[in-house]
Amino acid sequence: MLETFELKKSFGGFVAIRGLNFKVEANLTHAVIGPNGAGKTTLFNLITGFLVADYGYTEFEGRRLSKLAPHQIVRLGIARSFQVVNIYPRMTVFENVQVALIARDHQQFNLFRPASQICREETEELLDLVGLAGESAVVGGELAYGNQKQLELAITLASNPRLLLLDEPTAGMSPRETVESIDLIQRIIKVRGVTLLFTEHDMNVVFGIAEQVSVLHHGEIIAAGTPDEVRRDKEVQNVYLGGTFDGAARG
Ligand code: ADP
Ligand code: MG
Repeated sequence: MLETFELKKSFGGFVAIRGLNFKVEANLTHAVIGPNGAGKTTLFNLITGFLVADYGYTEFEGRRLSKLAPHQIVRLGIARSFQVVNIYPRMTVFENVQVALIARDHQQFNLFRPASQICREETEELLDLVGLAGESAVVGGELAYGNQKQLELAITLASNPRLLLLDEPTAGMSPRETVESIDLIQRIIKVRGVTLLFTEHDMNVVFGIAEQVSVLHHGEIIAAGTPDEVRRDKEVQNVYLGGTFDGAARG
């Protein structure tokens, strides 16, 4: 579904991504793991057009993404969330999703049609999917943190992606919010038929839901495969200090 070819990115003299060949298969939940600063977010920024590669390129469903702007890449079917929550804090939950749907459809406001009716059914459907149907009139900024992340997911899904990139979706969540969030993400994969590519520091989450794992270290993929293959990999065990994944893996 997605493949990068010799992707490179430096910041000044610092090489963050060094010639990355990376593959995501359609319909396999894929985790990118690696210590803090390994280049995970940079990789997501390159894939989604928020950064331009110094060298190499990305293909999505056989099509080159080089030089495309983020909104063009969204239109091709890739959506992403950020490590930091990204909603309109002063608009209602309903409006946050509605605006995202309107943006997708390029709909113009019609003077003779109440604004609240535009994309109404689809907005309700998405809010229902993420479990926020009861909060639609609440102002986004007043939601609990976990609920803001749910809202962000609904916004992200408004573009109808086939590939969904989530950067540390459970960061900052309580253990309970983490479990709920993972349940929700798995429901979304099933209901919407999206392929998930995510980064995550919680190894319970990674090994709980990933079907493929790629390990990034100093801007290079040092291992890729099924969770079991990656877990048994010697180099991976060395990177994750102590040779186990318990708690030592952060970032
Ligand atoms: P991760 O998400 O795996 O923690 P990042 O992709 O955020 O890692 O960062 C990889 C490395 O690139 C880090 O050392 C970080 O400091 C550096 N980096 C990321 N973005 C920038 C930037 N815009 N300017 C300079 N350095 C950056
Ligand atoms: Mg990151």
